[in-house]
Amino acid sequence: MIAEARAAEAAIIDGRAFADTLGERIARQVGDFAAQTGRAPGLAVVLVGTDPASEIYVRSKGRMARKLGMESFEHVLPASVSQAELMALVARLNADEAVDGILVQLPLPGDLDSLAVIEAIDPSKDVDGLHPVNAGYLASGLPGLVSCTPLGCLMLLQDSLGDLSGLDAIVVGRSILVGKPMAQLLLGANCTVTMAHSRTRDLAAKVGRADIVVAAVGSAEMIRGEWIKPGATVIDVGTSRVIRDGRTCLVGDVDFAGASQRARAITPVPGGVGPMTIMTLMHNTLIAAYRRTGLSAPKID
Ligand code: NAP
Repeated sequence: MIAEARAAEAAIIDGRAFADTLGERIARQVGDFAAQTGRAPGLAVVLVGTDPASEIYVRSKGRMARKLGMESFEHVLPASVSQAELMALVARLNADEAVDGILVQLPLPGDLDSLAVIEAIDPSKDVDGLHPVNAGYLASGLPGLVSCTPLGCLMLLQDSLGDLSGLDAIVVGRSILVGKPMAQLLLGANCTVTMAHSRTRDLAAKVGRADIVVAAVGSAEMIRGEWIKPGATVIDVGTSRVIRDGRTCLVGDVDFAGASQRARAITPVPGGVGPMTIMTLMHNTLIAAYRRTGLSAPKID
């Protein structure tokens, strides 16, 4: 969804508005699913420890699931939990027919092995899309569950640009959570994709050739406005807290003011990618519920 900004400035890609309408569509499909199966899709969220940011994320995921008519199962474990106890909980959730999606909030505290936990989740319930089986499906162009943040970025890009075929895209950052699945999604949408990372040489020139820039680094405003190709579309995933005029504020990886002078459209931080991430989690939970029940999943986006 694009709100026109001042003349000669980039349009703002309004992730909050897009997420709201996506949520309405999901809520309707949740109702259809319940009418067909006699139960609501179920999302289990596991929180280990008391990290305040993680507590907020987990609470908001549960709240959103309930708002859309899903069942929410929240499991809070102490930071002292053993790997074996955590794995046993994942095994119970895998076996629970009322649970369609399992999300273990990352990062895990202490010495807990995140990869082992991710690999223990039944791939058909891996609504975070992080299991190597789902990463493999994505790389193979097969239907699986796709990591929430890049899925939200793709939806915003397709809403803003329509067909992405033939466009030059650069993804800055190559994490398993964002950068790699984002590049696979763009490739799947027939973009020509460059993946940049901390060892990339002459990032400015590479960004300057891209029609689509997706920034997922976590370094405040490192992508300068003057790097952006005139008319490019910019998706800023990064979030960093900085002090400005004595106040803490959230900024992205892209110099928003500078990039807005050159881009055709850009996501703000906050209000761009962030609201999409929680809604694509709901999307994935609904898709997982349909697939697990053997019903064909609706196209929601
Ligand atoms: P991450 O795992 O720390 O990955 C960061 C990536 O950036 C790495 O691939 C790293 O390259 C690359 N990088 C670091 N410095 C660079 C540089 N100078 N030039 C080019 N690339 C550089 O982070 P992440 O989990 O992908 O998250 C990235 C950002 O997105 C963070 O700010 C995070 O908070 C945010 N995020 C937001 C949402 C949301 O919903 N809004 C969701 C997820 C993440 P190497 O691989 O070479 O080290």
